[in-house]
Amino acid sequence: MSDYDYDLFTIGAGSGGVRASRMSAAHGARVAVAEERYMGGTCVNVGCIPKKLFAYAGHYAEDFEDAHGFGWTAGKPSFDWPTLVANKDKEIARLNGIYERLLTGAGVTVFKSRARVVDAHTVEIEGRRLSARHILVATGGWPVVPNIPGKDLAITSNEAFHLARLPKRVVVVGGGYIALEFASIFRGLGVDTVLSYRGDCLLKVFDSDLGTFLGAEMAKKGVRICLRSHIVSIERRGDNLVCGLSDGATIETDAVMYATGRNPNTTGLGLERAGVDLAANGAVIVDDRFQTNVASVHAIGDVIHKVQLTPVALAEGMVVADRLFGQGRRTLDYRHVATAVFSQPNVGTVGLSEAQARHEYADIVIYKSTFTALKHRLSGRNELTLMKLVVDKATDRVLGVHMVGAEAGEIIQGFAVALTCGATKAQLDATIGIHPTAAEELVTMREPVAG
Ligand code: NDP
Repeated sequence: MSDYDYDLFTIGAGSGGVRASRMSAAHGARVAVAEERYMGGTCVNVGCIPKKLFAYAGHYAEDFEDAHGFGWTAGKPSFDWPTLVANKDKEIARLNGIYERLLTGAGVTVFKSRARVVDAHTVEIEGRRLSARHILVATGGWPVVPNIPGKDLAITSNEAFHLARLPKRVVVVGGGYIALEFASIFRGLGVDTVLSYRGDCLLKVFDSDLGTFLGAEMAKKGVRICLRSHIVSIERRGDNLVCGLSDGATIETDAVMYATGRNPNTTGLGLERAGVDLAANGAVIVDDRFQTNVASVHAIGDVIHKVQLTPVALAEGMVVADRLFGQGRRTLDYRHVATAVFSQPNVGTVGLSEAQARHEYADIVIYKSTFTALKHRLSGRNELTLMKLVVDKATDRVLGVHMVGAEAGEIIQGFAVALTCGATKAQLDATIGIHPTAAEELVTMREPVAG
């Protein structure tokens, strides 16, 4: 196919890198991948997968309590953190193996070491230089902790997955995905949990009803939520950590976990020297076909300046493989990327928020419903579910579907298909619900709450 050592050299064997590499190999390309840390990247090792396993673990506490209302009595439940961590690690090791076999089975050469870009067609690895017709940067991101005194005393989600002991008290900093998921996990596992967020509405990037509603539900479950809270220092005093706040107050705790965003992993990769344009935070700048300003260098996933989600990285990888070695017809539409936050309760969302829709459309209609799920009529739990639809009045098109409640991710996935197909509110109304489910509420909301 070319005079280069490889047709494609991918740096990073996370979700995006692995998908692009094996799809390129399936098109007949000679592909190599370099991975210095772990096969499967953030998602498999310190992200989606272990997080969801921990979220299941955290939810059992409520499941044991809820069972009483259904006639069950069992002994006092107890929880063993090392068992959870060990079982999670076993599952991750299994997945690491699967990822590696996916690559080798597709004929991809795997280097388990760090690669560096030398120039537009050269990569340096294990002391030698290899040439490639195309280079794909898929090195992901890394948690950022703001530069405050004592920042080294804080952990991030990376370390939270491997703590030797579960702390009795924790302060989680941030108001986004990871902060809310981990605050819920810790609380579910019985940890005295404080959530410290600098803003006044959690999950700022989503429809504002979601963050407000979720915050209230998490507070009911015992998470102490501190809004407009600014931690300015962390200090060790004996066995305790003390967080100093901007108003002079302090919070004493056993662990402080920062979930304040993730920066692209481009430091020391050689990209600037190769002439590749980077954004101020180090993100690789690409066009809508994931090509950088250096024509032979592409980038996908968390390392670019777009959406940091595994399924998005996979889709980007497919576009690149198809563009470089296939038909070149695939494109990616980010408009209906559905997403879920695996907090307790879950959040699921797709499409435009009410505020975005008001900005983009002349006239919109909002449908909203808050209710107690059937299960909690007997469990006695005071958890509420929120469902919300955002509709364009002129065309009747559904612009956004938002939910806080059990299995929100599972429910919203189906509605993402509907939105991708351009569903109207009339089509939702014409859909027969499945009874009794929470999801049926989304096809039975008749009265708008606001126009
Ligand atoms: P997010 O961008 O979701 O949230 C970061 C939070 O940290 C925001 O609330 C932000 O505040 C706050 N913050 C940022 N800088 C500071 C600072 N200097 N001091 C105090 N607070 C600060 O990032 P996460 O780290 O939670 O997650 C990274 C990405 O990973 C997510 O954006 C998401 O794309 C992905 N992810 C997806 C998951 C899923 O699909 N379920 C799960 C976990 C992560 P403000 O709101 O004011 O900006």
